[in-house]
Amino acid sequence: MNGELTDKSRVRSRKAGKLPPWLRRPLPANDAFRHTERTLSSLGLETICSNANCPNRGQCWERGTATVLILGNVCTRNCRFCSVTAGKPGPPDPGEPSRLAEMAKQMLLKYLVITSVNRDDLSDGGAGHFCDCINEVRRQCPDVEFEILTPDFRNCQPQAIKSLGRCLPFVFAHNIETVPSLYAVARAGGDYQRSLSLLRTAKESYGRIQTKSSIMLGLGESDAEVEQVLQDLRAVGCDRITIGQYLKSSKNSLDVAEFIPPARFDRWKQKAVESGFSWIISEPFARSSYFAEQREIV
Ligand code: SF4
Repeated sequence: MNGELTDKSRVRSRKAGKLPPWLRRPLPANDAFRHTERTLSSLGLETICSNANCPNRGQCWERGTATVLILGNVCTRNCRFCSVTAGKPGPPDPGEPSRLAEMAKQMLLKYLVITSVNRDDLSDGGAGHFCDCINEVRRQCPDVEFEILTPDFRNCQPQAIKSLGRCLPFVFAHNIETVPSLYAVARAGGDYQRSLSLLRTAKESYGRIQTKSSIMLGLGESDAEVEQVLQDLRAVGCDRITIGQYLKSSKNSLDVAEFIPPARFDRWKQKAVESGFSWIISEPFARSSYFAEQREIV
């Protein structure tokens, strides 16, 4: 069990030590992996897989899946769990939607996950560009299904929800990331209630759309706090969840407070089932887009 959080500075400085054996995973370099790498690179597309140093890159790219990062690779926030560069991003690239469509064709995709950095500099938070990307891929590859993983649209949730209504994906995802008591440390600029509100509004506005969220464990949260997050997500109608181990992705990222053994992820999966989630991945390597294309996972 994790300890209760009474001293954030203690949590910040605590280190979990060396990577345990269940978290060691080699990066393959076979033909399938290289094909994905070459396709993305030749089209000048960014991925969250690379920008966030995702440990699943080998496995996902080998399977011919990747999560495209649109709207650039510079984020207007600076979350301490994330390795994406913070700064002043450039304007949206009008050529990006057609390059995304070309990628979908070359990789014979049936399911595409699109995410973006925070774009607090744009009046719609980048929602319109999400739609441009989806609509162009749909035009050229009508069989592709979409999952979007969006920022919290801090200053523009109503406009963003309205705008995204023009291009509804199959799954609308927004990550809660961690428990509310750790937001100040891990996700400054984010707001727990705002994230819940986005998921609730998406569910209410888009009818039968699937909504999804993700939480990372091992940042110093308590079990009671995680249980509360599961309940809060269900209370806003969230259907899908991934629960994974937080890993330090750059030297400036927060240290891991605890490596959670796989058996505890099994227990969290059981809790998520009991809470009513219909699609669940709970394991150390679970990430928001991990095996996102799978129809049934409970
Ligand atoms: S889990 Fe998601 S971000 Fe990580 S490599 Fe797979 S597709 Fe990319």
